[in-house]
Amino acid sequence: MLSLIRSFKRRRLRRKPLPPEWAGILQERVPFYSTLTSEDLDVFHTNLKLFVWEKIFIGAKGLEVTDLHRVTISAAAVRLVQHLDLSYFDRLTEIVVYPHDYRHPDTGGVILGEAHGWGVVVLSWPAVLRGLQNPCDGWDTASHEFAHVLDREAGAFNGTPSLRADDHYRAWADVMSLHFERLKGGFGRERRVMRDYGATNEAEFFAVATEAFFERPAQMKRLTPSLYAELRRFYGTDPVSTCQED
Ligand SMILES: [Zn+2]
Repeated sequence: MLSLIRSFKRRRLRRKPLPPEWAGILQERVPFYSTLTSEDLDVFHTNLKLFVWEKIFIGAKGLEVTDLHRVTISAAAVRLVQHLDLSYFDRLTEIVVYPHDYRHPDTGGVILGEAHGWGVVVLSWPAVLRGLQNPCDGWDTASHEFAHVLDREAGAFNGTPSLRADDHYRAWADVMSLHFERLKGGFGRERRVMRDYGATNEAEFFAVATEAFFERPAQMKRLTPSLYAELRRFYGTDPVSTCQED
């Protein structure tokens, strides 16, 4: 029933034109937008509209959420599912946006973003902007948190999202655990591709590897080609030409 109502609403939202002011936001705040091919744009814009209009964006600590926040953050989310399916985000309902990096209430550590179990992502707005501003440095907070959402969608929070086919899981597990262990062990190739934070656990590895796949694709393809190949098969895209090696 819920999905029936959703698909009815989606049909209506799809027909609404892209608000003209969004183009300026995308051009100014989302550098990867200019790398999308003309064939990609239709799907990208449709997913963007649905994401912006379906999710609830909440400003924390007095932040007043505007389309600038909604469009910028949603762009990072829908890039991940450009060649997958927007339904990966169906269980995500709320995005909480802080006006600054914030401290964890228990640990006091600085947090740039978090993905909660029950459909909530929390993001620091400056961290979102920093992440997107340089699209080729392997660090993108929004992509990181939305990768966690893809992971959670599959049930467990273990670095394995719902793959495209049953016979993909074996190779995925082998390749991911190999490179996770190598990153944990401080191997040079992995460390040149991914941030050390990916060695925290399998879930963080998938999120950090996702950042690197989109922002350091040439390096990843050259130095850890099997990892690149698995992520390419899952995300259904080959971003290698979007960033030069640094
Ligand atoms: Zn994380």
